[in-house]
Amino acid sequence: MNEKPILDVRNLKQHFKINKKFTVKAVDEVSFKIYPGETYGLVGESGSGKSTIGRSIIRLYKPTSGEVVFDDVLISGNLSKETTNHLRTKMQMIFQDPMASLNPRKKVMDIIAQGLDNYKLYTNERDREEKVYKILEKVGLSGEHAKRYPHQFSGGQRQRIGIARALIMNPSLIIADEAISALDVSIQAQVVNLMKEIQEETKITYLFIAHDLSMVKYISDRIGVLHLGHLVETGTKNEIFNNPIHPYTKSLLSAIPEPNPIAVRNSVSMHYDYAASGIDYTKGTLHCVSGEHYVLSTEEEFKKWK
Ligand code: ADP
Ligand code: MG
Repeated sequence: MNEKPILDVRNLKQHFKINKKFTVKAVDEVSFKIYPGETYGLVGESGSGKSTIGRSIIRLYKPTSGEVVFDDVLISGNLSKETTNHLRTKMQMIFQDPMASLNPRKKVMDIIAQGLDNYKLYTNERDREEKVYKILEKVGLSGEHAKRYPHQFSGGQRQRIGIARALIMNPSLIIADEAISALDVSIQAQVVNLMKEIQEETKITYLFIAHDLSMVKYISDRIGVLHLGHLVETGTKNEIFNNPIHPYTKSLLSAIPEPNPIAVRNSVSMHYDYAASGIDYTKGTLHCVSGEHYVLSTEEEFKKWK
């Protein structure tokens, strides 16, 4: 790709010191790039470090080490006021549980306008309301909904409110952390379709975090596979699905629910046991399969797997 990435994560480490003797290496030496207007799907089982990566990028945590460059600006070190403002407006996050992330005592109008309020992004009350109405319409809700409280909505509608709250800031990157995981499958598809429509219209970039590959396959242009805090493979959707190299990626792919029951009976679910595999992620480096398809491995593993 000739384009410049909008987000460049290099050797990101996020370690949590629990006590003198014990540190959780939640994220270890993770590198990936996201290009403008695309959706990068970050997948991995629970506890693999997905949320920690999202939170470190958006600076809910200060990275232990490594660099994150967003819109050509380094955002992983000490932040100037200007850089903080840029980060807080142009990068937004939507969370898994909108009920927990939406203030139950606030009306939707004020929830969605919060970012506008924080950064004084309106000229008068009328302008503020109109901005909220416009964004409500964009996410498939109506002005009428602005008067209501979060508990008066369904799960899918609440997630639309979460999207509206992010979108009103006119961000260039949205990090969606398991944004649809708690929703019914039919509702998941609606929310994902909405996100896709918004992307077509605004050219917004998504970092789409999920623990299973089924929706990621549908929404992503490129995919990163995370295991035990390490990015074990990254590539385009087709590279990951048609030519998976890493044994963990292969086992993840074999676990995708198959809508056809006959295929289920015949499919072999691959089991991957890191402890027994002899693989040591800390000894591996990213090896290029082709283009921007990379796999974390030693020289020997790479020869064997490729
Ligand atoms: P995921 O989102 O993929 O489920 P997380 O990023 O939430 O994974 O967690 C990755 C690992 O880091 C887990 O082992 C988790 O227990 C640990 N972890 C996450 N946040 C913290 C924290 N604030 N303090 C200590 N350990 C943490
Ligand atoms: Mg998580």
